[in-house]
Amino acid sequence: MQLDLTEADLAFRRSAREWLAANTPGEPAPHDGIAAREFALDWLRRRHAAGWAGIGWPEAYGGRELPPERLVIWYEEYARARAPSLLDPTFVSLNHAGPTLIACGTPEQKAFHLPRILSGAVLWCQGFSEPESGSDLASLRTSAAVDGDELVINGQKIWSSYADIAEYQELLVRSEPGSQRHRGLSWVICDMRSPGITVRPIRNMAGETHFAEVFYDNVRVPLSNVVGALHDGWNVAMTTLGFERKTAAMGLQLALSVKIEELIALARPRPGSALAERLGDLRAQAAGLRALTWRTQFRAPATAFDGSLVRLVFAELSQQIHRAAMDILGPDMLAHGPWSHAYLEAYSETIAGGTAEIQRNIIGERILGLPRGGAR
Ligand SMILES: Cc1cc2nc3c(=O)[nH]c(=O)nc-3n(C[C@H](O)[C@H](O)[C@H](O)COP(=O)(O)OP(=O)(O)OC[C@H]3O[C@@H](n4cnc5c(N)ncnc54)[C@H](O)[C@@H]3O)c2cc1C
Repeated sequence: MQLDLTEADLAFRRSAREWLAANTPGEPAPHDGIAAREFALDWLRRRHAAGWAGIGWPEAYGGRELPPERLVIWYEEYARARAPSLLDPTFVSLNHAGPTLIACGTPEQKAFHLPRILSGAVLWCQGFSEPESGSDLASLRTSAAVDGDELVINGQKIWSSYADIAEYQELLVRSEPGSQRHRGLSWVICDMRSPGITVRPIRNMAGETHFAEVFYDNVRVPLSNVVGALHDGWNVAMTTLGFERKTAAMGLQLALSVKIEELIALARPRPGSALAERLGDLRAQAAGLRALTWRTQFRAPATAFDGSLVRLVFAELSQQIHRAAMDILGPDMLAHGPWSHAYLEAYSETIAGGTAEIQRNIIGERILGLPRGGAR
């Protein structure tokens, strides 16, 4: 593991900083609908044109194949520049659909989809959760019957972020009739424009509709859209969740260090006061999260479960910082739009991508070796 940044790393940091200073959009990003789609894709296209999209992806698919330390530097500079939140409509495409295709896709799937994702031509969403299968993902029931060289899909997904504005979905279905739990599932690329798909947006407590229910009524998907082997979707889904928990939120984790400094500047606590102590504690926790993020990226050999640790620390710290902001700013929070929006959104951070309880189960069972429970 490399601890010191080289001259080349520092030059990379300078070029990232300069590009972000000159190109970061000044206007706030819309949170849902077509406006959110256009803003996010436009920002991605600008990064792509300048060589700042998918910098860790293989060169063959338009990336720069940069090592983890460069990714961390990029995300630190991204946060420092107060660039648009990375939790935008491109999040699934760039951070887990794309990486899953790189890891498990066929050459044809990679050649078709990866350049489109990176260049901002299309959006992806995720269709894993169902009304009765969230934490216990292996109980999912949406079926996919093999019919010639197609799958015929019937069922329902829920909480699918940006499903209303995405072209493709990473869809987990039960393809082997009568199969139980983790067996008999398939991970398929579903074209959201297929006949038989109905998307119903759900409004959250921030007043936005950035996730949706999706219904499938005899939706036909070619078998060539199965990623990994037919009926082996659980392994592919675990690859996706590994990316979702370990690398996808790296930029969000590093951004918390910037957030806490912003809050300290707004609160201007008196030295020695209880408020200074509370904010100092949060600043120390953000520094700890930054260290944990670096460690997670460089730990060799990486364990598939490290992501749960860093994801849990991030989600709980983010909620603490936003709660402190609410306590400190009170009604004035409304005058600080991004803070009040982020406060409401932070509630979902201990649910999305696996709840805090599930991450604790994984840490207990897979890292600490405690007796196994039931869910994913
Ligand atoms: C903002 C947001 C975006 C999302 N985006 C997507 C998306 O794009 N695609 C997608 O597929 N899903 C998405 N989800 C869904 C998310 O993955 C699920 O909400 C999550 O996995 C929890 O499932 P559930 O909501 O069904 O809750 P449940 O599984 O019903 O859990 C209810 C409660 O019981 C607890 N619990 C359940 N099982 C256990 C256990 N074994 N041990 C201890 N406690 C347990 C949970 O922690 C929780 O508190 C999103 C969720 C949110 C909030």
